[in-house]
Amino acid sequence: MKARSLKWAVPVRLTILGSGSAGNCAYLETEETRLLIDAGFSGRQIRQRLASIGRTPESLHGILITHEHSDHIQGLTSLCTHQQVPIYCNRLTKEAVAAQLEAKFDCRLFSTGATIELGDVEVDTFSVPHDAYDPVGFLLRTASGNIGFLTDLGHATKLVIQRVRAANVLLLEANHDLKLLQEDTHRPWSIKQRILSRHGHLSNDAAAEAAEQIVSAELRSLYLGHLSRDCNRPALAHRAVSERLQDIGAHHVRVESTSQDTPCPTLTL
Ligand SMILES: [Zn+2]
Ligand SMILES: [Zn+2]
Repeated sequence: MKARSLKWAVPVRLTILGSGSAGNCAYLETEETRLLIDAGFSGRQIRQRLASIGRTPESLHGILITHEHSDHIQGLTSLCTHQQVPIYCNRLTKEAVAAQLEAKFDCRLFSTGATIELGDVEVDTFSVPHDAYDPVGFLLRTASGNIGFLTDLGHATKLVIQRVRAANVLLLEANHDLKLLQEDTHRPWSIKQRILSRHGHLSNDAAAEAAEQIVSAELRSLYLGHLSRDCNRPALAHRAVSERLQDIGAHHVRVESTSQDTPCPTLTL
């Protein structure tokens, strides 16, 4: 008698492996597809963090890249030296990555604004205002829900808000507390100006404002990411955003601050 193959449905799982001004990387797993979203830690760090959830870089089907800043790509060379894992990015990002990193990558290009299919995941790509060549945000559509990535955002444009409104889970930048940034003595004024500009990074208050505009009845989980180590505190970011959501009656959204150093507990959608 022929053995019947039993197929168990694999739940969709998201693990923010780390997020902050010095590194960003997330791991998504569905029935058919295993992806990294950005690779902004060393290859060794990414391998260790994947190992902490029982996964390896060898099983990846691809790496999605938002833009070429080192806190999003520094692990690429090491991850792609031993294996040819495809990298998904737009042309200007590919050129900017190639100018920084020596290795040869298997780049699969998309046009910003296009939707690409990676196994059972559909990835909407859209432009974000940030000081890189062609930075993008993503909305990953899976059978169990949609996950938005908005890690580096100078300001929340109408386009951005509209593209992520369908998210059930969202990683949203809450980079700095305005007062801590203004009082910071390590950063020269020019850098502060860059961070505060419309192509820099979202403050906690700006993140709260964006969250208010994005929130829908379907948004369940909001991760606050890309926190500056010197100019922010997880509690400040959390308070700014969760108070705003409480004020508008959005009690159904779970808000969680991410960390640079440790992965968040895995979320099953
Ligand atoms: Zn950036
Ligand atoms: Zn960044």
